[in-house]
Amino acid sequence: MTATRDALRSYLRGREALGVPEVFLSGASRDDVLDAVRGAASHVQDPAPAGTDVGRIAREGSREDILGISDMENLRRVAEACSRCGLHSTRTKVVFADGPAEARVLCVGEAPGANEDRTGLPFVGRAGKLLDRLLLSVGFSRSEVFICNVLKCRPPGNRNPLPDEIEACSPFMLRQVELVRPAVIVALGTFAAQTLLGTRDSLRHLRGRTHLYEGYPLVVTYHPAALLRNAGWTRPSWRDLQLARRIVDGDHGGSTLGEQVEGEPATNPDNPGSPAGSQGQLTLGGRDG
Ligand code: SF4
Repeated sequence: MTATRDALRSYLRGREALGVPEVFLSGASRDDVLDAVRGAASHVQDPAPAGTDVGRIAREGSREDILGISDMENLRRVAEACSRCGLHSTRTKVVFADGPAEARVLCVGEAPGANEDRTGLPFVGRAGKLLDRLLLSVGFSRSEVFICNVLKCRPPGNRNPLPDEIEACSPFMLRQVELVRPAVIVALGTFAAQTLLGTRDSLRHLRGRTHLYEGYPLVVTYHPAALLRNAGWTRPSWRDLQLARRIVDGDHGGSTLGEQVEGEPATNPDNPGSPAGSQGQLTLGGRDG
């Protein structure tokens, strides 16, 4: 019963963090609800049994082992049991992903923050809500976007990911891309962009054009946490997402991949009713991914 109570508490906290403080039972019985919560909890953080291939890969699997996992469910099971880098010892929950596996848009952030570590869901804090508004401003609802991070576990104190952590964890994200097969990838911030594109170029050089990752169109934009500190980057972020929108729609307005979309946002997605801000200079973003 304690496990069920913990699962229910965790589930309700996750809903609350997503801004959904109420649960409607819709005629379901108490047992129906508890069964559903138990199922959801075991699905989210199901430890891989020792001795299985999932358990072996989670403990000591190679990059190739992870890139060879055939489906999203087993990829999730491996990630949620993973101890392949030191972050496993400080995490509360693995933050695998959120969104449909058949999404046309796949967003990649940096690493989980405190809220994400607690709930097991990516982008649930202030930056996540801003990301939701930005996506909606170009016609993508959160529920139709697949969102994940380069790292699946939170670095202590929200420090930047270390190279060996990116090396160990990025195959999960790369496999997620291959399994989702999105129409466009949106790289949120420096770490996601550099990891996907295999470059050390700055965000300043990478934004404003369409890249290709393994044949998938890829657009680079600011991490939403950086926008919270500099509202002046909201307008260029909106333009980046407009470019992603047009790629998904197959409408490049007579331009070719690689050109920046034209136009101005009618409003600041962070503050509807206010004019959008102006372009700013880049510094590395913070954390809420
Ligand atoms: S950060 Fe990635 S590689 Fe490291 S323990 Fe977590 S899931 Fe495994």
